[in-house]
Amino acid sequence: MSPNSTSPLVGSPPAAATSGAEPAVRLRDLRKSFGQVHAVDGVDLDIAGGEFFSMLGPSGSGKTTVLRMIAGFQLPTSGTVELDGRDVSRAAPFQRDVNTVFQDYALFPHMTVLGNVEYGLRVKRVPKAERRERALQALRSVRLGEHGDRKPSQLSGGQRQRVALARALVNRPKVLLLDEPLGALDLKLRQEMQLELKQIQREVGITFIFVTHDQDEALTMSDRIAVFNQGRIEQVGTPAEVYEQPASPFVAGFVGTSNLLSGSNAEAVIGRPGVYSIRPEKIRIDADLDRGAALGETSAAGTVTDAVYAGASVRYEVSLDAGARLSVVRPNSGTSDVDHPAGSKVRLVWRDEHSFQLTEADR
Ligand code: ADP
Ligand code: MG
Repeated sequence: MSPNSTSPLVGSPPAAATSGAEPAVRLRDLRKSFGQVHAVDGVDLDIAGGEFFSMLGPSGSGKTTVLRMIAGFQLPTSGTVELDGRDVSRAAPFQRDVNTVFQDYALFPHMTVLGNVEYGLRVKRVPKAERRERALQALRSVRLGEHGDRKPSQLSGGQRQRVALARALVNRPKVLLLDEPLGALDLKLRQEMQLELKQIQREVGITFIFVTHDQDEALTMSDRIAVFNQGRIEQVGTPAEVYEQPASPFVAGFVGTSNLLSGSNAEAVIGRPGVYSIRPEKIRIDADLDRGAALGETSAAGTVTDAVYAGASVRYEVSLDAGARLSVVRPNSGTSDVDHPAGSKVRLVWRDEHSFQLTEADR
């Protein structure tokens, strides 16, 4: 799938973060093949110091393999990895100023929390007093300063995850790699940890590279997101850029739900050929069929085929007279269940810029 001209393949970090300095991480035409499988198929990326950067994509899209090549656990088939301007493509993991937090944060069960955090420093023969001070500081930064004497079994899942984080932070790496670190937590705890982790990252100021397949998580936490598909990056941008201006049908479909209009449907509704994405929450639904679209708006008539009450919102499926089907999500501002039950004739209205063109029309 070839990205169009509006999709920045090499994500440019925020200008302020890069002025004068090398990016914390720079990947150039990075590739990794396992036999016939091109797990990573030409990735270019610049990540600035202090960024919270997410790699988002479905399972098998190459995220973990990219992370492992940054860490040095896997060597590229071709291409380069630079850290702070230094080519480390062939360097061993211990020669790189990065640490990794995995999802299955295996803590030593027989050691205290403090012992777990100190362990790496002990291996590096850091003197005892310094080791203790740094471990306590790392525990305080993840808000577990009071829990150093406990055993991992005496902590909640979220607390154990934070111990794993402290164990990486204690090494004071330039870059922290996190591979689906919240995947084992239930939804409510995961949402709490998302905010917590973002807060911790701001405080410690370390570059975080965060791998997830969860689009909500990426949108909530990141300064910028790279969207992966089949070993390649389809788009790099801020959460709002990726959500509001998806560069390809894949991004539009993977990040949030999206309606696509194309072919004769696009010609009939938009008035031009091309492929257009419209987010369900951008569409108004109007029972007044006679009121046309205002200046700068697009409208289309149709029939509600399905109305699903979901508490805070209501989702409608609408079959347009012009032939396409659009999903519409409205906040539930009414007092009954749905305002437009199945079978209702309705008019859909949205601002012109919300039918976002994904690709140039074939002519
Ligand atoms: P993700 O983290 O996005 O789920 P991965 O980087 O783990 O994706 O995997 C990308 C592709 O590479 C998948 O098709 C996977 O099966 C394959 N792959 C990853 N590691 C290996 C390996 N060690 N040997 C063979 N194939 C692998
Ligand atoms: Mg993975």
